[in-house]
Amino acid sequence: MELIRQLDTATLAFVTGLAGFLLAGTMAGIRYAGTRDAALVYWGLAGLSFGLGHQFGHLFLTLGLGLPTPVVVAIANGLISLTHGLLLAGVRTYTGRRSGIVPLVGLSLAVVAAGLTWPEMRDVMRSRVLLLSATYMSMDLCAGWLLWRWPSPVRRFQRMAAAVFVFNSSFLAMRFAYAWATDGLSGSFAKDPSQILFFVVSLVFVYVLTLALALLMFRSKEIELQRLVHRDPLTGLFNRRSLFEHAAREQARCERYGTPLSLLMLDIDAFKAVNDTHGHAAGDAVICETAARIAGGLRDVDTAFRLGGEEFLVLLPSTALEAAVAVAERLRTAVSDTPVAATGERVTASFGVTELVRGQEGWEAAMRRADAALYRAKDEGRDRVSALPAATPSPATAVIEVT
Ligand code: GH3
Ligand code: MG
Ligand code: MG
Repeated sequence: MELIRQLDTATLAFVTGLAGFLLAGTMAGIRYAGTRDAALVYWGLAGLSFGLGHQFGHLFLTLGLGLPTPVVVAIANGLISLTHGLLLAGVRTYTGRRSGIVPLVGLSLAVVAAGLTWPEMRDVMRSRVLLLSATYMSMDLCAGWLLWRWPSPVRRFQRMAAAVFVFNSSFLAMRFAYAWATDGLSGSFAKDPSQILFFVVSLVFVYVLTLALALLMFRSKEIELQRLVHRDPLTGLFNRRSLFEHAAREQARCERYGTPLSLLMLDIDAFKAVNDTHGHAAGDAVICETAARIAGGLRDVDTAFRLGGEEFLVLLPSTALEAAVAVAERLRTAVSDTPVAATGERVTASFGVTELVRGQEGWEAAMRRADAALYRAKDEGRDRVSALPAATPSPATAVIEVT
């Protein structure tokens, strides 16, 4: 306590304000580095507003640069209120909502107006602390709650940032309770331990929040890049590139545990006609909806890939050929039983299925066999499933012999 008492409020306010500029600089840097999330703008502006609010109060109140104290306090509090509003607007944007920036800026202007004209706010520090603590606390709690609950692959990092918001709002609740219980608050830069503690906690809040938000942004970017590398942008399924990694891993697993692994390939029938009749965009939508129907019909352990165009492959671990044929039949029905929204027409697909022969072939060989089975399904009239066990001679080879 004695240590806290020895600290100098004016210096603390100055340093705390600098932390706001660091938040602004960090957010600007992340944006400059290529992350275009709109939340960064709000958070950066929040840092700026926080820094300005503190420096403004510091310059005019402690250095006595001439503005009347109530005016300085009202403007500084308006800027700090704007900080919490901008932080919340950023979190709202990040969590897919409208920023709500207009009412939040309106609230800050109301804080300034009340500070200038309403005697209770203008002249009584205790009332000011009660009202402003309650306001900031609510905004921070709201930001923390939204971040905590937002489902995303970077939830762990969101929760870190959420914890920082909740920490600050808990401190503000204590400040509220302290102001309620005592009447000891004499001025913004008074050498009052509670006021000193307020600056210290604000400093820690902004500093740790900067770290948490930066980590959150970097991690989101990293996951987005991973997604770009491994996923097909149109359908969200894994792409051909990641097939090599997945298939090799699944083969190693099935060799190790002696479990079966089946491969299923499918290709939409007469897709060129869809493009020709309805246009390329509708064709894309058909590919997307077909992909969604395939993915929706699989177990968690199965993995679907878009090989290119309107051609897909599914890895079915722990599935022998007979069961894989049943899966293919189920998918065939799922693809064709209802019209696709984009064209209003039904599409069909042909399927080729095979099972890897463990210990005797690589997954690439099994994939060639699935492809051959698919061609057979096309030859036999489309909209059907064709299975090729390992021993069957490939009809693709037979065709080559004939020609
Ligand atoms: P089949 O029943 O024999 O499979 O006939 P098909 O018309 O589906 O076969 P083909 O492979 O000859 O035609 C596929 C067409 O898909 C050709 C190509 O223009 C189109 N295509 C490939 N990739 C895309 C894509 O990403 N989007 C759209 N809209 N069309 C694509
Ligand atoms: Mg096709
Ligand atoms: Mg094709």
